Amino acid sequence: MKNYMEVLVDQHLPFVISKYSHIKDCEVCKNDIRATALNNLKPYYVNSDRGLIFTKLKDLDYQFNSDIIRELVQAAEKVSNSPRCH
Ligand SMILES: [Zn+2]
Repeated sequence: MKNYMEVLVDQHLPFVISKYSHIKDCEVCKNDIRATALNNLKPYYVNSDRGLIFTKLKDLDYQFNSDIIRELVQAAEKVSNSPRCH
């Protein structure tokens, strides 16, 4: 079992944080953003069969795309305003 939402969040994260010069290079902040976004998104568990994951990828990406981007942007704003690493 795998939370597919994690895969999608990791996929979108680099794009969302590309404008935050500090966060791009800070593992603490990156992990905070991932955790914050994933807590606000519904987990989507799939059988960790690689074939299944890849066939589902396109459909799910389209379905959850805007939610994931929205949560990641909010999380990035929050973390960049008060980074725990400082
Ligand atoms: Zn940081």
